[in-house]
Amino acid sequence: MPTFEYAPAPESRAVVDLQSSYGLFINGEFVDGSGTGFKSISPATEEVLAEVSEATDADVDAAVRAARTAYTRVWSRMSGTDRGKYLYRIARILQERAREFAVLESLDNGKPIKESRDIDIPLAAAHFFYNAGWADKLEYASLGTNPRPHGVVGQIIPWNFPMLMLAWKIAPALATGNTVVLKPAETTPLTALLFAEVCQQADLPPGVVNIVTGAGPTGQAIVDHAGIDKLAFTGSTGVGKMIARAISGTRKKATLELGGKAANIVFDDAPIDQAVEGIVNGIFFNQGHVCCAGSRLLVQESIASEVESRLKRRLGTLRVGDPLDKNTDVGAINSRAQLDRIVALTDAGEGEGATRWDNGCELPSKGFWFRPTVFTGVTQTHRIAQEEIFGPVLSVLTFRTPQEAVAKANNTPYGLSAGIWTEKGSRILWMADQLKAGVVWANTFNQFDPTSPFGGYKESGYGREGGRHGLEPYVKTGA
Ligand code: ADP
Repeated sequence: MPTFEYAPAPESRAVVDLQSSYGLFINGEFVDGSGTGFKSISPATEEVLAEVSEATDADVDAAVRAARTAYTRVWSRMSGTDRGKYLYRIARILQERAREFAVLESLDNGKPIKESRDIDIPLAAAHFFYNAGWADKLEYASLGTNPRPHGVVGQIIPWNFPMLMLAWKIAPALATGNTVVLKPAETTPLTALLFAEVCQQADLPPGVVNIVTGAGPTGQAIVDHAGIDKLAFTGSTGVGKMIARAISGTRKKATLELGGKAANIVFDDAPIDQAVEGIVNGIFFNQGHVCCAGSRLLVQESIASEVESRLKRRLGTLRVGDPLDKNTDVGAINSRAQLDRIVALTDAGEGEGATRWDNGCELPSKGFWFRPTVFTGVTQTHRIAQEEIFGPVLSVLTFRTPQEAVAKANNTPYGLSAGIWTEKGSRILWMADQLKAGVVWANTFNQFDPTSPFGGYKESGYGREGGRHGLEPYVKTGA
């Protein structure tokens, strides 16, 4: 039960001007796709928001051709300074239209408005500002001699941070002089289509950014298209492996940002209340639909029961419900399919003998919802300790020594992120050195910044996004 009640504080939807149907954005214009349409719904209410086109192979081909023409005739010939001006313009428009983007993102994705408003959209704008600054300074970014673009880049993004992933992908690609064909995820296409309007508003030359909507087959058409020079993919490890196989033996370059099963490690000298906040942020932020989520809590045995009881008390105060209410902490699960996956894995957790607890909150009658859930008594072999649940579900394991914490943290096919909670700086440095994870947070979790590289080890993928490192995959260097 919440400790006290809040009056409803819903955000107005009036700021969003939704059309009933959308075409594909190719060569600077919205065009009818040649495939059948599909519906994008609000996962919080199952209301149909808009009909969207499923791009066919022919549509993808048209988009790649438009991107190639724009690359050859305009974008690759433009100075970095001028490319930067377009990126700054896009960044400023995103700021001006931030409220509209935030509301639409929460409607289409189900995430709480306070996250889309305070994190997703401001960070998306920040990625454009940051990369705009690099556009005329690429020779000084230590990328190698004579950095130059690959050409046409195919980009496929997931549904958990639709606009933010779009910005992670498009901003460095354009800053380095590439042109883009981007496919948003099939359950969250709407903010990418609104971004297409931003490209028009910014007078971006036609064909520099093309947005094709659709599901797996549309993504596959991008991957397989002979006119694509480089791929950037964020999504599941399964699809990432298929992409790696599909492009092996071709000249296509790729970066893959895949799944994770991060350990959030709490030592007995950690400030416990802060650690509890970090645990909550680590796994319940964005309904746990976060590849770097702290989905495994490793807590030192001597403080395990105290952390567990404080954590449960805190989870009792989380407000689950209407994503558009500014007081909502946890929104809707993104789709029926994802909810089914979460249910199947949590059932397996119970079946394998872990102890299940949830915060008992009331859930709306329509839409896709899952209560914040904690499993204790989890062992290394349980599926809920090994597989990515991608939902608001925490698996708690214990350890006695730092060595044991490291061994357990690294005992996963993934290696995207990790968290360490302790007051000892030397222990933080030792642990960070031992952990096989691309990002290690100390006494915090889920901090993102455009200047900071992000990416994984092992089955979490390869390549880095963000920071100077994030420019590297978008350029070739040397003679
Ligand atoms: P998630 O588990 O996050 O939904 P997916 O890997 O299924 O991850 O989806 C991420 C993105 O990859 C989405 O845009 C999806 O449409 C796309 N996708 C799915 N299957 C394929 C495929 N075979 N080839 C290319 N892209 C795909």
